[in-house]
Amino acid sequence: MELNDVMRLVRKNIANLAPYSTARDEYKGKLGFFLDANENPFENGYNRYPDPRQLELKGIISQFKGVAVENMFLGNGSDEAIDLCYRIFCNPGKDNAVSIAPSYGMYRVAADINDVEFREIQLDAEFSFPAEQLTALCDENTKLVFICSPNNPSGNSFPMQQMLDFIASFKGIVVVDEAYIDFAEQDSLLTVLPQYKNLIVLQTLSKAYGLAGLRLGLAFADAEIMSIFAKVKYPYNINIAGMERAKELLKRDVKAEIELLKSERKRVADALVAMQCVEKVFPSDANFLLVRVNDARGLYEALIKEQVIVRDRSRLKGCEETLRITIGRPEENDRMLAIVNNWK
Ligand code: PMP
Repeated sequence: MELNDVMRLVRKNIANLAPYSTARDEYKGKLGFFLDANENPFENGYNRYPDPRQLELKGIISQFKGVAVENMFLGNGSDEAIDLCYRIFCNPGKDNAVSIAPSYGMYRVAADINDVEFREIQLDAEFSFPAEQLTALCDENTKLVFICSPNNPSGNSFPMQQMLDFIASFKGIVVVDEAYIDFAEQDSLLTVLPQYKNLIVLQTLSKAYGLAGLRLGLAFADAEIMSIFAKVKYPYNINIAGMERAKELLKRDVKAEIELLKSERKRVADALVAMQCVEKVFPSDANFLLVRVNDARGLYEALIKEQVIVRDRSRLKGCEETLRITIGRPEENDRMLAIVNNWK
């Protein structure tokens, strides 16, 4: 799609929106006597409002993601970016969004909150990419398609070319949620971002980067789309304490942790497959495994009794009798494996 056509997808009221202008949007210098924002002038580290554009933290993220600051949005978790997609592109009560099932639950919750119809394609038993069914489900009011890859809770990535063909053929926005991409063997779609103007890629610092508690999610897209995100978000959506801790903690090299978790994923999968109660371990490109067992509720409760908490996903269609098990530290995984092995 051409950028002009993409920008026509923005709701009229949002395209015409005159955003709130903060004191710090008007004066960008760091030194001076700040009598512009009605703050308390006695310094305590947090008495000033944060940078609404988060330029310093974005600069750091830009270096390791290889994406320019103007192609980036920083949110209160990627959940904020999901909600903004609806608020920017979907007219309540008229437009719709399409996704796959089973997948991440917030796409539907955010649609419901925004009074946007939500449509889903049930994935097949192998969780393969349903390109044709997705196309068939979209109509002229479909503004958003959410694709989660690697997908939660199935764990698999969808083949890059299949996703790209779909993005090229679709006349709305495709949001590819790459929350787990750092654990994947496959490349991120960030590598092709400039070529697909209707693509928004979501990532997060909550998973591989180990910062779930700071609530920092990322969206990447064309600079014009990102400028709409910037005007619709709450002016100071990221606070100073969070930004400072993130700047510090992002100096850590997480590569070794990621490599260890990937090798644990293989070790745990191989061990589980050999166990009596395990029927299938689904291939995973993420930091969790979806495991089909003979009695998911029974095993879930046996694990809980030993204070090992996993997620029972059995009530999701296509995930009957499955547990979703996050890959932990080696000793945590050993404990989980021992309980599963001794069960029934
Ligand atoms: N997308 C997916 C696929 C997820 O699984 C999650 C969290 N479970 C999120 C997004 C939300 O992440 P964040 O912590 O950045 O809000």
